[in-house]
Amino acid sequence: MSQIEAAANMIAQSKKLVVFTGAGLSTESGISDFRSPGGVWSRFDPNELTFQKFLASEEGREKYWEFSTSSWGEMAAAQPNPGHYAIAKLDSLGKLDRVITQNIDGLHQRSGVPEEKVIELHGTARWVSCLECGQRYPREQIEERIKGGIKVPRCDSCGGIMKPATISFGQAMPERETRQAEAKAAACDLFLVAGSSLVVYPAAQMPLIAKESGARLIIVNLTPTPHDPYADIAIHDQTGPALSQIIDRVKAYLS
Ligand code: ZN
Repeated sequence: MSQIEAAANMIAQSKKLVVFTGAGLSTESGISDFRSPGGVWSRFDPNELTFQKFLASEEGREKYWEFSTSSWGEMAAAQPNPGHYAIAKLDSLGKLDRVITQNIDGLHQRSGVPEEKVIELHGTARWVSCLECGQRYPREQIEERIKGGIKVPRCDSCGGIMKPATISFGQAMPERETRQAEAKAAACDLFLVAGSSLVVYPAAQMPLIAKESGARLIIVNLTPTPHDPYADIAIHDQTGPALSQIIDRVKAYLS
C-alpha cells in the first residue's frame, strides 16, 4: 500500500481527526514564510518588531505598522490552495473535528471550514484590535486609513493603541487557543500535520500530545521534521498536491 493510500485509509477509519497546519501550507498560496529568505522579511529586522518595541514607543509602532502593511498586500490577495480545499473537503465529509493553525491568513475559513472549527494559535491578520478596550476592526478598514496617510492607527472608541490581531515576537501565546489546541490534540484519534516543520513551540509539542494520548500521527511536509520517527506515516511532498491525492482516496473509501 502506498503512503497516500495508507493515509487515506487511516483518515477513513478515524472518528476524531485533528489537522494541524503551518507556513508550508500558506506558502503554496504565495504567502511568504518569515523563516525563508527574501520578500518583506529581508527588509525588516524581527528584533525591531517585537511586542515590547511596539508598546515602548510611537516610533516602534510606526515601524511595526510599516512592516505589517507591506506584508498585508500578499496576504489580502492570497487565495486558498488545493491543500486548504482538501481540508475543507474533510469537513464536508464529516471527518474534521478541528483545524489548529499557526497561520494568520484566514485561508481555512475562506476555503469553507466553519469559523468555530479553526483554532488560530498565532491570531489573525484579518482583524485589528485595540489593546486598551479590545474593540476589533476589519483589517481592510484600517489599511484604508494607512493609505490615507495615518502611520499609527488609533481606536475610534477609546483612542487606544491598535495592533493587528496576530501574536508578535515577544508576545505571549493566547491562553484560550493554546489550551483548546492541547485539549483537542489529546482527545483526537488521528492527528494530521500539513505543512509544518514542527520545530517551534507549540507546534513541536502538539503531535507529541496526540501521540502520547494514543492517536495515530500523519505528517505531510516538504522536508523531514524532528517528529517523523514518531509518525505512523510521513510524506515529504508539497502539501496541496499530497492532501488532494489523499482526500480523493478518502472519498473512494467512504463511497
Ligand atoms: Zn479602544
